[in-house]
Amino acid sequence: MSDTLALYIHIPFCETRCPYCDFNTYAGIEDLIPQYVDALAEELRLWGEALAQPDVATVFFGGGTPSYLHPKHIQHLMETARASFLLMPGAEVTLESNPGDITPDRVQSWRSAGINRVSTGVQSLDDALLQLLGRRHTAAEAVQAYRCARAEGFDNINLDLMFGLPGQTLAQWQDTLSRVLELRPEHLSMYCLTLEEGTPLWAWVRSGKVQEPDGDLAADMYLLAQEMAASAGYQHYEISNWALPGREARHNLAYWRSRQYLGVGPGAHSYLDGWRFAVVKSPRAYIRRIAACANLSCGEWMPETLRKRGLLESADAVNAQTLMGEHMMMGLRLAEGVSDAAFRARFGVGQAEQYSLQIRELSEIGLLQWEDGCLKLTSQGKLLGNEVFQRFVA
Ligand code: SF4
Repeated sequence: MSDTLALYIHIPFCETRCPYCDFNTYAGIEDLIPQYVDALAEELRLWGEALAQPDVATVFFGGGTPSYLHPKHIQHLMETARASFLLMPGAEVTLESNPGDITPDRVQSWRSAGINRVSTGVQSLDDALLQLLGRRHTAAEAVQAYRCARAEGFDNINLDLMFGLPGQTLAQWQDTLSRVLELRPEHLSMYCLTLEEGTPLWAWVRSGKVQEPDGDLAADMYLLAQEMAASAGYQHYEISNWALPGREARHNLAYWRSRQYLGVGPGAHSYLDGWRFAVVKSPRAYIRRIAACANLSCGEWMPETLRKRGLLESADAVNAQTLMGEHMMMGLRLAEGVSDAAFRARFGVGQAEQYSLQIRELSEIGLLQWEDGCLKLTSQGKLLGNEVFQRFVA
């Protein structure tokens, strides 16, 4: 391994399922948690051995709802991660949480386990919209949870918000934004709701039970978020992410900058040594297959072998063409854009040569621009990001 690693640890449990969510997470299988945590610890240990204890710059507990686990499980996973990898000094260690799980005792336990950044799914500060989203907290509880995390010592907090919700007005969004900005979290992730096919919310909208979100209004909400966050001193460093200076999410930057990452747990994805691979999604199958793979030697602990043994549902060696497309797609999400020098150093060819047609056409319609040797989205391009990205991937 030539690079430091970003380590993602998946926790596929939630107290209840939110009707808009299509993540790989489950409610009602809490009896699996102890065996699951043991399997996850085993996977961490095996990867640490196979990769000869690589340097890890960031750890991210995502889900699902990692804060739903008993803190002793987080402690155990952190101890295993520390014993299996070289956690670099100052490594960013994030835990995703639901507001209802944030209590002084839990926060203290997370901090003593080594968590130094907490990310909380607030989504909205409007109680009616929170109810529509099936969230288990009220606006007041979300604010209280934030204050608790701060009072108990977290100095790096992200809040997740959603806009473009069914029936949401611009005034409601403005109210949520101004109250959240007053709290001064170090980081804000703000995503437009996507109606994922097959989710209850998607079905409710299709059947007319819930109003279809208005795309033009969602675009106005995005512009309002940009304006208000900028006035409050936040830097819009990625299409859907804002940070106070120096507080960008280092773990996510590793994805956007096409660095290597290892994901453990069901459904987790990795990009490592030229391979992309994804773990089987079912937590029960995952537990069984970790046990079946545990006797493999270090040398056999390779994507292709793990796929044959059923632990991975896919494992593909990535070719240069695909890597170039991904480099463009991920890098263009960032305000810094894609540096031509870095692209050339990685692939031996410039962006303008490799993608001359795409860049010319997208620049002509005002979605892309060159600035200081970097290719970037324009303001209009940020609104139509997906249309730009799909031009770079096969
Ligand atoms: S809490 Fe998060 S991960 Fe769990 S169901 Fe809701 S949105 Fe999905």
